[in-house]
Amino acid sequence: MKHNIKITRVQHSRLSEVDFDNIPFGRVFSDHMFVADYHDGQWHNPRIEPFERFTMHPATMALHYGQAIFEGMKASKSKDGEPLLFRPELHSRRLNLSAERMCMPHFPEDLFLEALHALVGLDQAWIPPQAGSALYIRPYMFANDEFIGVKPSQNYKFIIFTGPVGPYYPKPVSLIAEQTYVRAINGGTGEAKAAGNYGGSLLPAKIAQEKGYDQVMWLDGHEFKYIQEVGTMNIFFVLGDTVVTPATDGAILKGITRNSILTILKDKGYKVEERPLAIDEIVEAHQNGQLKEAFGAGTAAVVAHIAKIAYNGKDMDLPPVEDRHVGDMVKAEINGLRACTIEDTRGWVIPVKSVEEVNEAVS
Ligand SMILES: *Cc1c(COP(=O)(O)O)cnc(C)c1O
Repeated sequence: MKHNIKITRVQHSRLSEVDFDNIPFGRVFSDHMFVADYHDGQWHNPRIEPFERFTMHPATMALHYGQAIFEGMKASKSKDGEPLLFRPELHSRRLNLSAERMCMPHFPEDLFLEALHALVGLDQAWIPPQAGSALYIRPYMFANDEFIGVKPSQNYKFIIFTGPVGPYYPKPVSLIAEQTYVRAINGGTGEAKAAGNYGGSLLPAKIAQEKGYDQVMWLDGHEFKYIQEVGTMNIFFVLGDTVVTPATDGAILKGITRNSILTILKDKGYKVEERPLAIDEIVEAHQNGQLKEAFGAGTAAVVAHIAKIAYNGKDMDLPPVEDRHVGDMVKAEINGLRACTIEDTRGWVIPVKSVEEVNEAVS
């Protein structure tokens, strides 16, 4: 099935108001957005419109019961200025897995990809050319029934908007291994990018910050024993000469950055393990001098080094960032692929088709 995406362009671009060398994260939005509406069992009226506010009925179901999911991805420019997407089909598939868990309709993968190409192609001047900068892309879907009964909505809206983001150089983060609250539990919604998961993570993060730490490291909700994630990122450890990340078990979000890092490490011949990882093993590795490195992995930062981890009231300090090699290597590799300074041999980097090409393919 091919779809013609109707396009209404802005009369005046806001681009000249933006300073690409100084972009406040998450507050700058590009000129256009993609919108589609679901009713009567189908997606209707796929269109690109000027980015603007919309009105909502006070009983809009998503606001009451949290039937809402999202994705986060980035477009970059090659060194020659060509706009590029990174593994977009994986984001489409994950959105649909999130939709299944939240009892929402699939959004067709072909339309998701066409919409991305058309939108990013149209607003490609919003992709900052600066190294490490990108156009952040936020696809999301929410329940749009005007009804306060608790049941799956019959109406949904799917939207994609974008906004430029500057290079993200997080300073190494300090963590508390969280022993009171949990992010997710097997059988819950932790594997979905469901809005409510993030609402529930704010209080423990705030408490950690009041204690002087940056973020929480999540442990499993049965025994508070196995490591899950850090904040809203997946987590990797280098123990001796082996890179270890917790196996996805139903409560861990299956990050696309996580997947890319695992693939890059295996291709380069690193010893890599995906398995249950107990916090006690990290304590022991720290005592033996085998805890070489730890980092978070996600689309926004790619890699965020971990400086220390508090557990049972004791701080474990990690080696200086200068002595670490794995995290910086995979970050440079992913950013190099995104800028086409490293050759893409895996088909991860997808050149953006223009709006005209997208719609021409249809007619
Ligand atoms: C989005 C997300 C990640 C990282 O996923 P990426 O696809 O790599 O951006 C990890 N953990 C949580 C909880 C997330 O929401």
